[in-house]
Amino acid sequence: MFYLSTRGHPDRKRFCDILLEGLAPDGGLYLPEHYPQVDAATLAKWRPLAYADLAFEVLSLFIDDIPAADLRAICRKTYSQEVFGTREIVPLRKLEDGPVAGARAPLYLEALSNGPTLAFKDMAMQLLGNLFEYELARRGEQLNILGATSGDTGSAAEYAMRGKHGVRVFMLSPNGRMSPFQQAQMFSLQDDNIHNIAVEGVFDDCQDIVKAVSGDLAFKRRYKIGTVNSINWARLLAQVVYYFAGYFQATANDTEKVSFTVPSGNFGNVCAGHVARMMGLPIDQLVVATNENDVLDEFFRTGVYRVRASADTHETSSPSMDISKASNFERFVFDLLGRDGARTRALFGDALAKDGRFDLGAEPAFGQAAQRYGFVSGKSTHADRLATIRDTFERLGVMIDPHTADAVKVAREHLSAGEPMIVLETALPIKFAQTIVEALGREPDRPARFDGIEQLPRRVTLMMADATAVQAYVVQNCK
Ligand SMILES: *Cc1c(COP(=O)(O)O)cnc(C)c1O
Repeated sequence: MFYLSTRGHPDRKRFCDILLEGLAPDGGLYLPEHYPQVDAATLAKWRPLAYADLAFEVLSLFIDDIPAADLRAICRKTYSQEVFGTREIVPLRKLEDGPVAGARAPLYLEALSNGPTLAFKDMAMQLLGNLFEYELARRGEQLNILGATSGDTGSAAEYAMRGKHGVRVFMLSPNGRMSPFQQAQMFSLQDDNIHNIAVEGVFDDCQDIVKAVSGDLAFKRRYKIGTVNSINWARLLAQVVYYFAGYFQATANDTEKVSFTVPSGNFGNVCAGHVARMMGLPIDQLVVATNENDVLDEFFRTGVYRVRASADTHETSSPSMDISKASNFERFVFDLLGRDGARTRALFGDALAKDGRFDLGAEPAFGQAAQRYGFVSGKSTHADRLATIRDTFERLGVMIDPHTADAVKVAREHLSAGEPMIVLETALPIKFAQTIVEALGREPDRPARFDGIEQLPRRVTLMMADATAVQAYVVQNCK
């Protein structure tokens, strides 16, 4: 399997070469040259598999430069009950039988958030940690991961990389802006290879520092700076697996169709659903749910993709979906435009840089987004979130987090008679206690292993928003 860039660069690369890279050299994102096809016989063979073995089967269609025995061992080490809390890894639970025009349309929650940091990012990041350790050891190399987080990504990365040989993590977060639980999760880690840097500023300041440091190419090369952001193909690939696992749990045979609703920000999660659908998994619709930051909802309604200025990005109660642009979206547009790299470069490289927007509304290709690729969308607001959290708890007895609530709200607008709708649960309520208290007037349930986490000793360095200071810190801690 070879990988290409969405912006038409002629190079073709193997999986392990793009594993440790971010963007392609032309600024595009990596995608496989083709999507492997999964036929009825393969689906039947995969249906009874344990999650780790299903992951191996899916991954091995895209990875041919890691020996099969090693890849299987990595999958089994990653997707174990010890790490993810249940035998199913991503258990499905029925919320209700949502009647539509008299017929049932069962609404399910697929739990992706039982990993070490209680958000779905663990599903991919845990695999990435094990793949990085494996590949770095094989090459005799080291990597210093530099990242910026507003909460979920940073903690998932730190819990995936802690104690791993050959890897250090330098994670910037805006001082005092993450939820108290998220701060406690990250700052209580005592591992030598994990460095928390709390920056006096907002998330954008953190991201600007990462860009400045990574843009200093001499420094980047000398100190082996890498990233783990959501454009990493291995992260996206890991996420493809749970679309299959959710499908198998919701259906009795492989002729049935299901739809998925995905709480979306950077379009990484739902893009994995797109890949699963392109492989032939019988998915009807992929419903993109956004919060007030409705960049994606606007596109799927109108064909206009418009990047927001920082000042126009809302700080919401589903903060992990607060985006000004959707970094993985280019992958889907590349497919939508018949994999035309020159056209994708003109839109994402030129038009966005110049005008901050492009408009596909008048093009036949835009109609394909829904008709051929199954994409529809919807939007949820703070009031919707609160009402949905309350309704789901009081009527159905299930406590959901604000991001999942956005998706449940939007999912109900897209139910189709006789067809299961699977909502991806992307975090547990304990991570966002303030909004739960606002909705329910009580504290969220807390898994026992997190009792007293806020009282643990903290390991964090406070810094001004200054790229040079961060570089100096990296140099000092790379000795
Ligand atoms: C990251 C995140 C999202 C958004 O996922 P994308 O892949 O960026 O679309 C949604 N919910 C939670 C809880 C998250 O952590």
